[in-house]
Amino acid sequence: MSDPQTNNETDPLARDVQTLYGTGPARAAELRRLGVSTVGDLLEYFPRRYEHERAERPIAQLAPGAIQYARGEVIAVDYVPRYPRPRFEATIRDPTGQLNLIWFHGGYLRGEIRCGLVLRVRGKVQFRSGAPLMIQPRWQIIAPDAPPIGQDVLRPVYPASAALNSATIASIISRNLPSLLPAVEEWFDPQLLRQRDLLPRPEAFRAIHRPATWSEAVAARRRLVYDELMLMQIGLILSRRLRSGGRAAPRMVVDRLLDQRIRRRFPFVLTAAQERAVGEIVRDLRSGRPMSRLLQGDVGSGKTVVAVYAMLVCVANRMQAALLAPTEVLAEQHHMTLAGLLRESAVNMELFTSRTRRESRGENIRRLSSGQVHIAIGTQALLEEHIEFASLGLVVVDEQHRLGVRQRLELRSKGISPHYLVMTATPIPRTLALSYFADFDVSVLDELPPGRRPVITRWLTQSLADEAWEFVRREIARGRQAYIVVPQIEETGDEAAGVTAELKRLSSGPLAGARLAPLHGRMPADRRQSIMNDFREGRIDVLITTTVIEVGIDVPNATVMVIENADRFGLAQLHQLRGRVGRGSEQSHCLLIADASTEDALARLNAMTATCDGFQIAEMDLKLRGPGDFFGTRQHGLPQFKLADITRELELLRQAKEDAQAILADDPNLRKPVHAALRRAIERQFGTALVLAQVG
Ligand code: ADP
Ligand code: MG
Repeated sequence: MSDPQTNNETDPLARDVQTLYGTGPARAAELRRLGVSTVGDLLEYFPRRYEHERAERPIAQLAPGAIQYARGEVIAVDYVPRYPRPRFEATIRDPTGQLNLIWFHGGYLRGEIRCGLVLRVRGKVQFRSGAPLMIQPRWQIIAPDAPPIGQDVLRPVYPASAALNSATIASIISRNLPSLLPAVEEWFDPQLLRQRDLLPRPEAFRAIHRPATWSEAVAARRRLVYDELMLMQIGLILSRRLRSGGRAAPRMVVDRLLDQRIRRRFPFVLTAAQERAVGEIVRDLRSGRPMSRLLQGDVGSGKTVVAVYAMLVCVANRMQAALLAPTEVLAEQHHMTLAGLLRESAVNMELFTSRTRRESRGENIRRLSSGQVHIAIGTQALLEEHIEFASLGLVVVDEQHRLGVRQRLELRSKGISPHYLVMTATPIPRTLALSYFADFDVSVLDELPPGRRPVITRWLTQSLADEAWEFVRREIARGRQAYIVVPQIEETGDEAAGVTAELKRLSSGPLAGARLAPLHGRMPADRRQSIMNDFREGRIDVLITTTVIEVGIDVPNATVMVIENADRFGLAQLHQLRGRVGRGSEQSHCLLIADASTEDALARLNAMTATCDGFQIAEMDLKLRGPGDFFGTRQHGLPQFKLADITRELELLRQAKEDAQAILADDPNLRKPVHAALRRAIERQFGTALVLAQVG
């Protein structure tokens, strides 16, 4: 809802939060920090959970066993510092009776709970010698004249920050809700709402923020989850329609001779899984319809050669291929790999990154637009800048889901419909694959090249770090190489500083005498390339580096990966980093140095030592982080769900899919008045091109 292009005058929900009652500039700034910049964002700032606040009972009516609330004036306090346990005791009184309270180890309460104050307490009641007692009750001091809570309420708990607590957020929302709800539009036909038993949309927004009952809160959530899923399903159907909407893709020819010529370039025999993937891709390239294929395989499964095969088919058919990587380091790595495979061939390949020299860059862009460059390698900037291809036949995107619907539409609007291959090491759980990649075909590399051994993974606490350095020294002595990954320094976000400091410390201490070199994203490209070359050719023993090497780097002789402060990395990231070793037939090792700081960190470290299986890691990661984070932020061009958990809400997902199909079958371009609001929502999310596209 915070699309900056939305017109403020026509959409009241696009108004700045600062225009709201109760939010001055300071609060508005705090809200913005929480991702809430418009009124619509505020409406979609959903409670994380609810606290069930029950009615207070007169003390005389407290019953044993259940958790209950009561209030009263403090009439006695006592601190008993003795055996068996020190405890703080208090007694409160209301017009009907007295209630005793005990907090063990409650010495700190001496300064807080005093006679004369009025407390509201919550706890389980028991009776001792006929008198009611609460042990370890929750308590709060309230004003003597605070109105009693006479009935059960559900209090929403919002994700908060230090400067803006949940109660304040709740009061801002609650005060403004009545005036905002009229601006919430219904998306669907009343008949659909009845059929699916859905609350009206404005009612759902009211009820999720101020539910009267549990079942109302549940119904509100269900409606809003349905809407999120619907939006995604409609977006997917429209983009698929656009893709297959009559537009032809280059029809490529692959014969025996070409196949043999390509294979001769590979220094190994393809695995059965690679063969299968190549077969599927070739079928797509021949079909005359734009390929949209996801190539999924764990780190080290050999996705690159499959992509190279496809690119060489493309070049042999006199068209250009683009290989897009998420980082410049990875683009450089691909450039080197391809240069190796294509040595002494007639294929012209060029690297395009922001660090490519100015002079040669202009020249390369010209050669690309005239068709002299056959394979362009770069980051996605390659598509976004004003770079022209003479005839782009294939786009390969490595390791990311970043090329979203919007970017693919841009590609098409440049008048081309290239084939499209996405490589990913993230095994996408089936449910996600079904929804996010509904318009993709999938090839899976479920087999590693022969001779690979699982990486032995150990977790060492900081106090045992010396064991790691000892191990690195031994491996170096055997002619092996190592990576040492250090996290970014959090405060500054400066990756260079951490690397430099660690390089200094290790070279003058634990790894003195070894040939160490730094590698990080702040270095000029040519320096980075020359260090990578030296490492690849064995002139450097150890790279001290950052997550820039997370993906793609491929040096089979490197057999040790040390990750410092491993608790600071996400699980998927740790697995990716580990994937940099174990790429040859030598036994490789991954050493995680960390003191587990949180329970999540502990779970991640344990998962890493328990398995090398990318699929298991991904499932665990999904559990730990939830699907929202799983795909990063909005980079994939699809909505980030605020509520929906598509790993669990399968039934609702199925319904939304069915309904989305029915709506578009009935009203292909959402032109009916009843769908006007839905159409606006789709346009806000995906851009207008998607809806305007005619049915093919
Ligand atoms: P990823 O799927 O992680 O991108 P790569 O494409 O980088 O994997 O391949 C990992 C390593 O395996 C590379 O060194 C590559 O040369 C090698 N490799 C790929 N396919 C085979 C194969 N069929 N036989 C032997 N080695 C292979
Ligand atoms: Mg790769």
